[in-house]
Amino acid sequence: MGVVTKIESADHTFQPWYGCHPVVDDGEVSPGCAVCFAEGWAKRSGLVKWGAQQPRRLSSEAHWRQPLAWDRLAAREGRMHVVLNTLCDIFDDRADPAWRARWWALVKVTPNLLWTPLTKRPENIPGMLPPDWGDGYPNVMLMVTCEDQKRANLRIPRLFEAPARWYGCYYEPAAGPIDFRRIKIGEADGRLDALTGAWIADDMNEERRCPRLSWIVAGGATGPRADPAHPAWFRQVCNDVCEVRGRDGPPWFHLKQWGEWKPTSGVDVYCHGPDHNAREFPNVQGIAWLGDGRVCLRDFSITEHARRIRNRQAFNTRAIDVDEQALEDFHAACADPNRIADNPLGFQWMYRVGSKVAGRLLDGRTWDEFPAAARRPTP
Ligand code: SF4
Repeated sequence: MGVVTKIESADHTFQPWYGCHPVVDDGEVSPGCAVCFAEGWAKRSGLVKWGAQQPRRLSSEAHWRQPLAWDRLAAREGRMHVVLNTLCDIFDDRADPAWRARWWALVKVTPNLLWTPLTKRPENIPGMLPPDWGDGYPNVMLMVTCEDQKRANLRIPRLFEAPARWYGCYYEPAAGPIDFRRIKIGEADGRLDALTGAWIADDMNEERRCPRLSWIVAGGATGPRADPAHPAWFRQVCNDVCEVRGRDGPPWFHLKQWGEWKPTSGVDVYCHGPDHNAREFPNVQGIAWLGDGRVCLRDFSITEHARRIRNRQAFNTRAIDVDEQALEDFHAACADPNRIADNPLGFQWMYRVGSKVAGRLLDGRTWDEFPAAARRPTP
């Protein structure tokens, strides 16, 4: 856990200013912006209004002084401290350029901090770098947020257009699978392996070297509008990262949180049959999900189910939403004990238990990797 922040992937959070507005790609609001944690915070705090036309709010002088103290602490500890922005986008073109210049100046005088400016606007980065940036400051890892393959295809190539010593990606809130080894760049005939930095043409006659991602931080969504993140998505990224990296080198993988929804064993899914009380978490909403991406049912909590029965609703079903074909496939698999054991459909039962209970174990293990220079001592 962070020294100051509770965010697992950082030691500190620093907001040079507050405020932002949603990113729209091809007419569609980015999935992360649709459930923006920072916007929810802004509404609750009343400190700033969200929106393109709303003014950003500069942070207090006391907050601006904090990184100097963190830098001294990091120097004493002999490791870099990771600093993350969570309530603004550093490369937001509606923010005052003078504030960004001040932020760059602060970054420069804090060499023991690993700054991880996080953005969904990588196309803005090249025009917003400081004049002496060169091939990058050694204490800056440019990071982009990608929620699914579409955003990864859009944003990772743009991220790599900005020179930097380090690049990283927040795969959070995950809204679909991402194959980081097959990033499609526009209409180009080929794919980018963002974990190794190889760009491979479809005819295999050409391979170019590109930048690569050094750190992937994954996580599910939080808040009332959060959807679950399928464990298979994170498992695949984790496996790919482990496959390509050297013994102690990048890329590193960090599973920050499941968010609102906790996965449980696929085999658990229908062992309880129609007995609602046999669920691991009967008092929360559940979702049964096939590995091919189909949701076969969304289930009421037992309390909500009882309420509906009292109100003469939903006698015959306890499901909120059903995909009949997916459910049929699901039942067919469940009818055969051998198939359940093999979990051929990769089905997954998830419960809406809240982020504290959901935790961050992936297949029984915590994935807590950090860039080498920022690694915490083993307790
Ligand atoms: S870019 Fe980030 S801070 Fe801005 S609206 Fe989207 S999710 Fe929120």
